[in-house]
Amino acid sequence: TWVRAMLKIEKLNFAYGDLKVLWDVDLEVHEGEIVTVVGANGAGKSTTLKNISRLVTPTSGSITFQGRDLGKMQPHHVVEAGLVQVPEGRRIFPEMTVMENLRMGSYVKATRPDRQKNIDWVFELFPRLREREKQLGGTMSGGEQQMLAIARGLMANPKVLLLDEPSLGLSPLLVKNIFDIITGINKQGVTILLVEQNVYQSLRIAHRAYVMETGRVVLTGTGEELLNNDHIKKAFLGM
Ligand code: ATP
Repeated sequence: TWVRAMLKIEKLNFAYGDLKVLWDVDLEVHEGEIVTVVGANGAGKSTTLKNISRLVTPTSGSITFQGRDLGKMQPHHVVEAGLVQVPEGRRIFPEMTVMENLRMGSYVKATRPDRQKNIDWVFELFPRLREREKQLGGTMSGGEQQMLAIARGLMANPKVLLLDEPSLGLSPLLVKNIFDIITGINKQGVTILLVEQNVYQSLRIAHRAYVMETGRVVLTGTGEELLNNDHIKKAFLGM
């Protein structure tokens, strides 16, 4: 059967000034999937997400979401449409409490009626955040801040959650935890596009994945295919 892509990137090119960093990137995400983009530092993974979120503007190519051209949309319209990015480096509001951070996540008007329901939902996913409701974001551990960043993203009713390096800087135990949580969020109906340097863990949970090298997609397949791919084993898994 023919599955229509929910998010479709075609021939995306992008440059920071004179520095060209994305070359003809093609990528698609279908409804219900976890799609992972893996690659070394500087491969262009974060830049790809920034183009989708409209934080930067492509040089050429097209990005459509549910048939709508994102190139014509402002960043906040992208969020309203249901594409919600959780930024790299847990950019939460450090001077605000956990609860205030969560409320900021539903700044889009259309999501306000769901605010309480979503707060209940994210507290169920992250019981730790409920315990720390009144604590200032900036005083929490790295892992807790990462959870808060994801929870804040969920407050915006995402159809697709864009996650930039959610496992960065976490202890091995928390890394396992965060990937389990991502799988759980996906099972509850949220489509996931994930950018990661943790190749093993992210391929393990991915339905499909893309490998980027120096601004290009060099390989794509199911998570399992790529885990068993010789190039991936040598280049990323140390095997
Ligand atoms: P990382 O995991 O380090 O974020 P990445 O695969 O996400 O890696 P990008 O952050 O997308 O890679 O970077 C792609 C290229 O663009 C790199 O060469 C990087 O140095 C460059 N770059 C990233 N951000 C900027 C910027 N704001 N201005 C200029 N060059 C940038």
